[in-house]
Amino acid sequence: MLSEVSKTKKEDNILNSTLSMMKQAIEFAELSPDVYEHLKTPMRFVEVAIPVEMDDGSTKVFTGYRSQHNNVYGPFKGGLRYHWDVTADSLKALSMWMTLKCSLVGVPFGGGKGAIVCDPLKMSDRERERLTRSYVRSLGTILGPEIDIPAPDLFTDAQVMAWMADEYSANVREPSFGVVTGKPLAVGGCVGRNEATGRGAFFVTREAARAYRIPLEKSRIVIQGFGNVGSNAAKMFHDEGCPIIGVGDISGAIFDKDGIDVGKLTAHVKETGNVKDFPGAEPISNEDLLALDCDILIPAALENQITGSNADAVKAKVIVEAANGPTTPEADKILKDKKILVVPDILSNSGGVTVSYFEWVQNNYGFSWDLNTVNTHLEDKMVSAFNSVYSYFCEKCVDSDMRTGAYMYSIKRLAEAMQYRGWLHNGMYT
Ligand code: GLU
Repeated sequence: MLSEVSKTKKEDNILNSTLSMMKQAIEFAELSPDVYEHLKTPMRFVEVAIPVEMDDGSTKVFTGYRSQHNNVYGPFKGGLRYHWDVTADSLKALSMWMTLKCSLVGVPFGGGKGAIVCDPLKMSDRERERLTRSYVRSLGTILGPEIDIPAPDLFTDAQVMAWMADEYSANVREPSFGVVTGKPLAVGGCVGRNEATGRGAFFVTREAARAYRIPLEKSRIVIQGFGNVGSNAAKMFHDEGCPIIGVGDISGAIFDKDGIDVGKLTAHVKETGNVKDFPGAEPISNEDLLALDCDILIPAALENQITGSNADAVKAKVIVEAANGPTTPEADKILKDKKILVVPDILSNSGGVTVSYFEWVQNNYGFSWDLNTVNTHLEDKMVSAFNSVYSYFCEKCVDSDMRTGAYMYSIKRLAEAMQYRGWLHNGMYT
């Protein structure tokens, strides 16, 4: 069932490209090479065997990982994904992006990421529950509300987080729900967390459109991915009056030059499971979707989607990376030559971890905020992160791209924390 969306995934090693990006940003920002020494490997990387009793009584042992990249800024934080196509290297890169993301948006967490190699679509709920609980037991004390705090990611959701919170609480013999975020409201979740990544991507797009003097309400939007992030972002753009002319998911893509009715599409996806066969829209391929004549393209699916072989066909003026790592380094170069602004993932999709932070804060002091408070705080954080990165980028990287600017800005903050904590013996600058 590997989709068109994920076919190109292996094309690039995202760990190597992340390491070169970090190295380059450290050089450009004239930071000490010791900063790179700290960031080039996770502080801890574990691989665990996860035995699970399947519904037919057999036992299957799955492979799980947790990458705890860096905690100079606070406890490790990052999603847990259930996916058939995960490697140790890709997970290390994903955990590095979390470190950069948290520092960039100013939430006091380090970076982490976990995964279990499995096909969750072929497992029953009971099997997924046993898998989740077994994973928590395998990780033992390296998880904790002050140590490492997982959250939903690809094919994990609030229910999976509730199982994790329950299993962890049983292990430590007290209710300790702050060990994960993205939980259901009934067990310490936060209103608006589910929509937060899509909502954050919307705020960042709005700010980018302002900075580039693109009238947002008239902008033709294309979204690749209609899961949690893509569908919530689509709803916000639709409410703003923007025509969403193309949407794609694992099943294929659809096009309507007059704009797709997002409410009807959401109902269609709820009923059929995917965007394919949406009445009234033209079916197109994923490649055609990325090449549509539009103003703003929002990749909200997987890594390595805009590549050296399809970037030249992109016609959008702005790309807002709601997914993690959707653009390869070769594609970045092509897009830069074409003067297409790429708003990088570590900024565009940081809304999720930002509201995770709000959830953790509420869990810590035992009080719940209302939706308006959550959304207002999210908007403040995203607008201020965009503006700080954008002005830093304009000031420092006139000749470069926004991704480099975002990496420089984020790593500089990490370096400051390293210096204060005494991790850099010759200071933070070269
Ligand atoms: N999985 C999300 C991400 O990649 C959220 C992480 C979190 O909330 O900790 O940003």
